[in-house]
Amino acid sequence: MEAECPICGSPVELPDDVMAGELLECPSCGATLEVYEQDGTFLLREAEEIGEDWGE
Ligand SMILES: [Zn+2]
Repeated sequence: MEAECPICGSPVELPDDVMAGELLECPSCGATLEVYEQDGTFLLREAEEIGEDWGE
């Protein structure tokens, strides 16, 4: 199973046990991508920076 990188459009391999919320790195452009699920299909979006508003 693979999904398309939203940054560079390259196919990114998804693990067989992939879950929504998982973070992957695009092998082509190196972007950090977050897995999400839509209509039973796993898609990728650019991961948001984590930590800025964390706990404050
Ligand atoms: Zn990419």
